[in-house]
Amino acid sequence: MSTTSSKRFEGQKVLITGASQGIGEAAAQYFARHGAQVAINGRKEEKLRTVLETLPKVSGGEHVIVAGDVSQEESIDKIFQKSIETMGGLDILICNAGYQIPSPSEDITLADFEGVMAVNVTGVMLCCRAALRYWLKAGVKGRVVVNSSVHQLIPKPHYLGYSASKGAVDNIVRTLALEYASRGIRFNTVAPGAIVTPINDSWVKDPEQYKAVASHIPMKRPGESSEIADAMGFLASEESSYVTGQTLYVDGGLTLYGDFEKNWSS
Ligand code: NAD
Repeated sequence: MSTTSSKRFEGQKVLITGASQGIGEAAAQYFARHGAQVAINGRKEEKLRTVLETLPKVSGGEHVIVAGDVSQEESIDKIFQKSIETMGGLDILICNAGYQIPSPSEDITLADFEGVMAVNVTGVMLCCRAALRYWLKAGVKGRVVVNSSVHQLIPKPHYLGYSASKGAVDNIVRTLALEYASRGIRFNTVAPGAIVTPINDSWVKDPEQYKAVASHIPMKRPGESSEIADAMGFLASEESSYVTGQTLYVDGGLTLYGDFEKNWSS
């Protein structure tokens, strides 16, 4: 987990969706700390204002709030228009907004399933499309990092919409990566394991449940939002200039099948 600052993103303009708390907020802090001008999105302007006040100032210009729902086409157009106009361009898109609704799969409602898909899949597709339209016209070699989940790989019973949505974004990223590789536009995915964010307050704030969650993770602890932001930074930077269409799992070893740490099968 790094708390260092640098000028590695100086002059770069970054739009981050779902930046009012959790991983998105950590990403905003990360990019601003490393010199980028950021546009922070979320649904509630007030929460974004609180985040904005805490962001380090940068030489490239003021950070900007672009509130709006990323599941709505009209709202996405406005988010991108304001981001690009105010910052004078866009270099990096972080598709982070996402949510989940638990339910036994036999009881899942169509509204809940479609609601999750609308934000986690359609929202990512529409944001990528908006960025591409700008980058192709402006001749920018943009970079996209999508925040997926270990559940793009590991099934998550009782979270059917969430599992389906994260599997889908993996293929959106791989398809777009191939389609635009020759034009220097890169798409990659970060797939977090269990991370300490407000979405997980139920187990983060309960010592017994926290211990239970940690026991399933090979590194025996959940991750911090800043550790996901570090990985996003790598995939958005020149240090990953030859990487596209890939998923970087940031999960303390969760996708290594922890049950096999001790031999039980032969
Ligand atoms: P969070 O609930 O703390 O934050 C989610 C952010 O997305 C908030 O700012 C919220 O306002 C925003 N958001 C939700 N719906 C939106 C919409 N329609 N339009 C605009 N903004 C919207 O969640 P988090 O834990 O920080 O998760 C962020 C991302 O990381 C999600 O995509 C999630 O699936 C993924 N993820 C999280 C974990 C974890 O353990 N926390 C693990 C794997 C993946």
